[in-house]
Amino acid sequence: KKKIGVLTSGGDAPGMNACVRAVVRYGITKGCDIFAIYEGYQGLVDGGSFIKKMEWKDVRGWLAVGGTSIGTARCMPFKTREGRLQAANNLISNGIDALIVCGGDGSLTGADVFRSEWPGLLKELKESGKVSQEECDKYQHLTIVGLVGSIDNDMSSTDITIGAVTSLHRICESVDSISSTALSHSRAFVVEVMGRHCGWLALMAGIATGADFVFIPERPPSEDDWEQVMCDVAQRHRHLGKRKTVIIVAEGAIDKNLNAIKAEYIKDILTDKLGLDTRVTTLGHTQRGGSPAAYDRILATIQSVEAVEAVLRATPDSPSPLIGTSNNQITCRPLMKAVELTHAVAEAISQKNFARAMELRDPQFAD
Ligand code: ATP
Repeated sequence: KKKIGVLTSGGDAPGMNACVRAVVRYGITKGCDIFAIYEGYQGLVDGGSFIKKMEWKDVRGWLAVGGTSIGTARCMPFKTREGRLQAANNLISNGIDALIVCGGDGSLTGADVFRSEWPGLLKELKESGKVSQEECDKYQHLTIVGLVGSIDNDMSSTDITIGAVTSLHRICESVDSISSTALSHSRAFVVEVMGRHCGWLALMAGIATGADFVFIPERPPSEDDWEQVMCDVAQRHRHLGKRKTVIIVAEGAIDKNLNAIKAEYIKDILTDKLGLDTRVTTLGHTQRGGSPAAYDRILATIQSVEAVEAVLRATPDSPSPLIGTSNNQITCRPLMKAVELTHAVAEAISQKNFARAMELRDPQFAD
C-alpha cells in the first residue's frame, strides 16, 4: 500500500487546496494512504502533529477555498542537510514513501535535492540508530512528484501554473476598477503587479485591460529614451480621445542595463513631462487571495490526479516528474530539467540576453 505525503510550499496560490483535495480523494480511491504535511517543509522537519492522515471528509468544501488550508511556509532548516535528515526521519516514522509537493521553483528544487540525497539520508539515520535495518530496506526509494503552484506562471516546462489565472482575474478586476476613476478624472494610473522575475501577469493584464504601456523583466525597453517613447504612446492615445492612461509595471521590471524600473519613477515622468494627474497603485496581496477561478480548480484537480498516477507508476530509476500542461494536454516531464530551464531564464536576463530569456520563458512571445 502506497503512503503518500502531500504538502504545499512557498508562496500560497489559489488552487493549492484543490490539489490537496484531489490527491487525498484520488489517492484513497486508488487504495493509498494520504498524509497532509502542514506548514510546508517546516511540517516535514518538525513532524508530530504536523503530519496527519487524511480521510475523504477532511477535504470537503476545499475546492472553492483560496490559499492553502494545510498552510505553507518558507523553511530555512530544510535548506540544510540536518533539517532534511530530520524530515527523512519523520517520513519513515509515518511510513511515507512518496511525496507530492505543490509549490514554486524553490520548493521543487528542495524536493529534488531531498530525493537526490536519498538513500544517503536513510543510511545516516540507520548509522545513528534512528531507523532499523528493516526500515532501511523497506524505504530504499523515495518517490517525489512536483505540481507547480504559483501565481507568477514563472516555471518552464509548463504553459500555466496553478493559481496564475485566478491572480490574473484579480488584477484585471482591480485595473478595471481603477479605470473607472481614471476615466472620470482623466487621470493616469501606474499599476504595479506581482510576478517577481516573471512578466507574465503584467503582460497578460496589459492585454486583457488594454493598458497603454507594460514593463516586464524579460523584455526591457530597448530605447535609451524609453521614458519619451512611453510618453509619446500615452499622448497619442490621449489625442485619439482616451481619457485615461494605464501603465502596468511588473514588480521585477528592469531597463536594459538591469536597473529596476519603479512605479514611482514612471509616475514622476508622466506628471512632469505630460502634466498628467498620476497615481500609483500597488495591488499587493489582494492578487494572491480569494476563491480560485474555475480554471485553477480544474487544472489543480486533473494535474493532482496525474500526480497520484505518476507516484503509482514511478520506478526507482525514473527521474522525479513535474506535472505540467502543454497545448492543453497534461504533461509529465523531468522535474530537474524544468527547474534548470527556469533558472536559465534568470541567467539569460542577468547576461542581458533578453531574446533568449523570452524564448525560454514562452516561445510564442519570442522575437
Ligand atoms: P514562490 O515561487 O511562490 O516564491 P517557491 O517554492 O519558489 O515559491 P521558495 O521560498 O523559493 O518559494 O522555496 C520554498 C521553500 O522550499 C524554502 O523555504 C525551502 O524550505 C525549500 N527550498 C528552496 N530551495 C531549496 C534548496 N535549494 N534546497 C532545499 N530546500 C529548498
